[in-house]
Amino acid sequence: MIPKRCILPVFIPHLGCPHDCVFCNQKKISGQLVPADAGTVRTAIEEAPENSDGYELAFYGGSFTAIPIEKQTELLEAAAPYRKNGRINAVRLSTRPDCVSENELEFLLKYGVETIELGVQSLDSEVLMLSGRGHTVKDCIEAAKRVKNYGFKLVLQMMTGLPGDTNERSIKTAKAIAELHPDGVRVYPTVVIKDTELYRLWKENNYKPQSVDDAVDLGAKLLCIFEKAGIPVIRFGLNPSEDLSSGEAAAGAYHPALGQLVRSRLFLERLDKLISDISPSTEAVLGVHPSEMSDAIGQHRCNIKSLQNKFNLKNISVKPADVPKGDIRVLEYK
Ligand code: SF4
Repeated sequence: MIPKRCILPVFIPHLGCPHDCVFCNQKKISGQLVPADAGTVRTAIEEAPENSDGYELAFYGGSFTAIPIEKQTELLEAAAPYRKNGRINAVRLSTRPDCVSENELEFLLKYGVETIELGVQSLDSEVLMLSGRGHTVKDCIEAAKRVKNYGFKLVLQMMTGLPGDTNERSIKTAKAIAELHPDGVRVYPTVVIKDTELYRLWKENNYKPQSVDDAVDLGAKLLCIFEKAGIPVIRFGLNPSEDLSSGEAAAGAYHPALGQLVRSRLFLERLDKLISDISPSTEAVLGVHPSEMSDAIGQHRCNIKSLQNKFNLKNISVKPADVPKGDIRVLEYK
């Protein structure tokens, strides 16, 4: 399990990437045009507000382990004094599955890197090929096992709605990821970003983007798979950014609160089952964990309205209750 920490991201857009994956434009995703150097790392750490628990420094947006070793050393050396003085308490980075050799992992261990995030994106060969990933399913599986064997915490990133992808393929990928026992996963439904190959394919009618609603429906199924396996989903959907929200996300499943929509949809499915068990009732009071009230009710009370309409309920309310997260209890009904 990965402890919750305050992440301090440093972006290295496209640094190390051997080629451009069809969907990717890290400059637009991160809003940063120039990759970080030692100065950027020091500035990011020194300008971060005081945090008594320290920060977890995270190198995101490129393929860290594929950049020349001198540059990796420069970035990690820049962070080293802050690890000693406790300002930084851990380092994590994201990279590609075909760039984590044993030598590389030994190098990262020396610099105290704790967590490695691997962008596997799909465990379907055709999807990987059509997305221009340049690595195989076998690369993903071997890399995940190697990272774990070396004692790193492992986060696996997957995408949905990629070229050639289907719901069945995404579900198969999620199940295969769960079998690799990562410490966490991130799920990114595909967004069509301007200045990418995918944008061109979409404009030429050679790619059909996943809608937000489809991504939410599928996302609820994936969330259920990971929850059952006890694997935390630490992110659902791209972080909203000014660039993406102001039109750079031209199509696909972009929504600033996608994660909440997915959790809410999963609650709707569970509520639906619970209400059908006590149907026909006219009133019901349900209890959920206090931190999950808004997920259960849904944006603009959409879950409540949907259940009222479907089951002809006069009144349905959700209250905070002493129940485990993800659980729902019927407190009263008539
Ligand atoms: S998806 Fe990852 S490997 Fe592909 S271009 Fe983007 S940052 Fe590089």
